[in-house]
Amino acid sequence: MKGVGKQLGTKMNSLGIFTISDLVDYYPRRYDDYSKIEKINRIKPGPVTIQAEIKQAKGRYVRRGMHVTEAVATDETGSVRLVWFNQPYRAEGLKNGEKYFISGDFGLRKGRLSIQNPSVELASGFNVSTARIVPVYSTKKNVKSWQIRKLISGCVDLIGRTKETLPAWIIEELGLISYSDAKISMHLPESQEDLERARRRLGFDEIFGLSIAALLNKNKIKSEEGQAIKFDEKLAKKFVSGLPFDLTDSQRKSIWQILLDMQKATPMNRLLEGDVGSGKTVVAAMVSAIAIANGFQVALMAPTEILARQHGETLYDLLGSVGMAEKVSMLVGSMTQKQKTLARKRIKSGDTGLIVGTHALIQDDVKLSNLGLVIIDEQHRFGVEQRKKLQKKAGYMPHVLAMTATPIPRSLALTLYGELDISLMSQKPVGRKPPITEICSPNSKKQLYEKIETMLEDGGQMFVVCPLISKSEALKAPSAEEVHAELQKKYFKNKTVGLLHGKMKSVEKDKIMSEFQSGNIDILVSTTVIEVGIDVANANIMIIVGADRFGLAQIHQLRGRVGRSNKQGYCYLMMSDSSAPSRRLRALEYTTDGFKLAELDLEIRGPGSIYGTLQHGALDLRVANLSDSKLISEARNYAQKFIEKGEDLLKYPELNSRVTELRAVTNLN
Ligand code: ADP
Ligand code: MG
Repeated sequence: MKGVGKQLGTKMNSLGIFTISDLVDYYPRRYDDYSKIEKINRIKPGPVTIQAEIKQAKGRYVRRGMHVTEAVATDETGSVRLVWFNQPYRAEGLKNGEKYFISGDFGLRKGRLSIQNPSVELASGFNVSTARIVPVYSTKKNVKSWQIRKLISGCVDLIGRTKETLPAWIIEELGLISYSDAKISMHLPESQEDLERARRRLGFDEIFGLSIAALLNKNKIKSEEGQAIKFDEKLAKKFVSGLPFDLTDSQRKSIWQILLDMQKATPMNRLLEGDVGSGKTVVAAMVSAIAIANGFQVALMAPTEILARQHGETLYDLLGSVGMAEKVSMLVGSMTQKQKTLARKRIKSGDTGLIVGTHALIQDDVKLSNLGLVIIDEQHRFGVEQRKKLQKKAGYMPHVLAMTATPIPRSLALTLYGELDISLMSQKPVGRKPPITEICSPNSKKQLYEKIETMLEDGGQMFVVCPLISKSEALKAPSAEEVHAELQKKYFKNKTVGLLHGKMKSVEKDKIMSEFQSGNIDILVSTTVIEVGIDVANANIMIIVGADRFGLAQIHQLRGRVGRSNKQGYCYLMMSDSSAPSRRLRALEYTTDGFKLAELDLEIRGPGSIYGTLQHGALDLRVANLSDSKLISEARNYAQKFIEKGEDLLKYPELNSRVTELRAVTNLN
């Protein structure tokens, strides 16, 4: 590209820009509106643009390492001082008698009004940094935003020749602007409206691609051969009557939806979405029992070994009530070779009806017999490849039930999981008291610990969650190791304080966890490894240290760990410092609705906050706003039409390659 030498080239590479197409895809981080040109006698403090001549430009060093250039800008209404810091080249480029656009921040400095560090461009040229809506890019390593703007302005013609990616009829019906215009306007918008049109167009493309991928996947799944699993009313009744509680309506409805799906010869592909504590395990147990009674095997995978073991125990009890305890097997990494061999044998022979495990389940030497149903707990923790592998084992497409406690707002769920049918459990079991949540400052740490000490005397237990494992210089956040030492040595000398984090070996983690479960450990300091699903009924207090560093949905998940019995739960959100808590964090004090919190997260921090752990680079939406329900439904409708019309994806190479990539990411089968 013209204007890119070795030095600038290397700098651009550091931003991940290697080709012109990379450059065009490098969207601005934000825009500064300098489009309004004002007369000098009318400007007010803040960002301003003037059109003026520049005189008396002079540079000098005011002290070592501090260079100042000053100049005077004049139009027919008056003059204003311009000041640049450490830009010694400034004075040279300016010519007397020329008209310039000057955009910068007008304000008071050292008692004098001036425009500070303004961008200056000839009024007769192609202005990219002044007198317009100016794009600002994320930069580093001495790359300047204006350098990117210059490069972009140099290839506007080329961008203008980019091929259209959508069928003409869609563009026409929706009144969208062309792909190439949208690309140009993302970088150099003529106006706010122009920018909006560009965003609408490119946002549409993103959701449209996602929706097509989801629909194609859904159609493909529907065309697969599966195994019908018959409903067994007698068994269902027996299972329900054996429970120590009544099922909630949400549980009943979900079970019913799942059983209906499983009766079909087309494989189920369903997401069971229920807030923490909504009782998903019972649902899984009941549908597993039905599958087992039909002679099928069920595989249940959990993201961690701790969780797999816990599920194993719960399911052993639940299936025990219908005489199927013998049918439950566990297969996890930390078992001895002998135990594993035995488990594999029982699985292969079909003696095992339900296998509970972690990733170990998908190792190649596990031979399944007649796999009918795959249940994945916290499905977003599993990679696509891992899911595929497990399902391949069966040699055909088993029914798949994914469970998640991540409350995904409906608009997002429809977009990201368009190929899944969704069962939503909105109710919680009755009599469950939500944890009392309180925000506190680290200054009142001592008082809080004293209060908790007396609370623990009543026989409770406490989780303390920290954002980091070890002390880090880069991040000034409290670490589990430091907090553990402090609690044990200083504040809770008479209690047993345990430490649990992701870097520990599974065996070690299990040991700590079971000691906490049995009450030998009073206080468990950990990282977010305890986030998913761990059930310790006696734990009723939680402190989240550095709470401002977590997402709302994540904190909500965490606090779901306390108050799982009839004991009142308490959750203390300790701030990183003594600054006032944000309104966002305050929402946790009065809302216990996971969906509301997720929506808040979505609004404030974008989808990344909900999917912090989700690996889906391809799903990254860069333009589309997922709270824009109109855009989402439009894109979904048109994806449907596109497929119904029998449009050939190969005619749209760019769309095709994105859809292909997305299908691999979102496909559960
Ligand atoms: P999650 O949806 O978070 O996985 P669990 O399945 O672990 O929730 O259930 C949480 C707790 O609620 C368990 O102790 C379970 O026995 C209990 N539970 C489940 N369903 C009901 C119900 N209908 N009534 C009362 N308690 C229930
Ligand atoms: Mg669970």
